Amino acid sequence: MPVCKKCGDEVEELVAATLDGKKLRVCEQCADLAREQSEIAAASESVMQQMMGFKGRR
Ligand SMILES: [Zn+2]
Repeated sequence: MPVCKKCGDEVEELVAATLDGKKLRVCEQCADLAREQSEIAAASESVMQQMMGFKGRR
């Protein structure tokens, strides 16, 4: 059985996911997590940019 590169669990099928900019073969659970985290990172980045833009204008 293939082993997830992230959590080390044995799973029936691995899926490709991007973790910290690296492509890895992970289980579906980890792929979901990675997707969520990259969305959160992208969202918080835009919030940061908004805050900085707001500060810059004052
Ligand atoms: Zn996993």
